[in-house]
Amino acid sequence: MYNLVVFGAPGSGKGTQSARLIDEYGLYHISTGELLRDHIARDTELGRIADSYISKGQLIPDDLMIDILEHTLNENPETANGVIFDGFPRTIEQAKALKSMLAKRGSKVHAVVGLEVPDEELMDRLVKRGAESGRSDDNPETINNRLKVYNAQTAPLRDYYVGEGKYHAIKGSGAIDDIFNSIKEALRDTRE
Ligand code: ATP
Ligand code: MG
Repeated sequence: MYNLVVFGAPGSGKGTQSARLIDEYGLYHISTGELLRDHIARDTELGRIADSYISKGQLIPDDLMIDILEHTLNENPETANGVIFDGFPRTIEQAKALKSMLAKRGSKVHAVVGLEVPDEELMDRLVKRGAESGRSDDNPETINNRLKVYNAQTAPLRDYYVGEGKYHAIKGSGAIDDIFNSIKEALRDTRE
């Protein structure tokens, strides 16, 4: 059992590194961004609600997001063996909810990987991705707002997890393989 939070700004590489980490550690991957985009693609009721926030670069309200996460844990019993949380929590309230959801299941967050990338590079990456991804939130105006929202609502989580002694800062720029190796190195003694 091992629960890992992959944390970082939009475009910091959470999805890319999470994909490698699930192979390496055999954990269940929960990407809240992918989950919401899947609902949008299927045009479900949740998808329509989610799109109204995502396309403006805003966060989905905490109550709703926490509900979705709890459902995902309940519907996928494999999650009891360990999860990579990619894109969740994004607020202190979500972090507190995650803590109690895991405590209810006799577990906890074992470690947090924080991918740290300078703002200019994030902007660059997201604009480039926007040209290929077709994502409604990868355009310059929305990107700007996502970075603002990140700094105001999500970045404070860094201190929250530093306070819990769980935060591992990783330099998130450079080669994908090098970043992956520094994550493995940082996590080595967090895995029993
Ligand atoms: P990365 O490129 O590092 O994977 P990202 O910025 O592309 O990061 P996603 O995790 O794919 O981000 O999320 C896309 C959008 O989905 C967010 O901007 C937000 O609107 C919504 N979202 C995802 N997770 C959450 C969450 N935990 N709380 C609220 N909104 C969320
Ligand atoms: Mg993503």
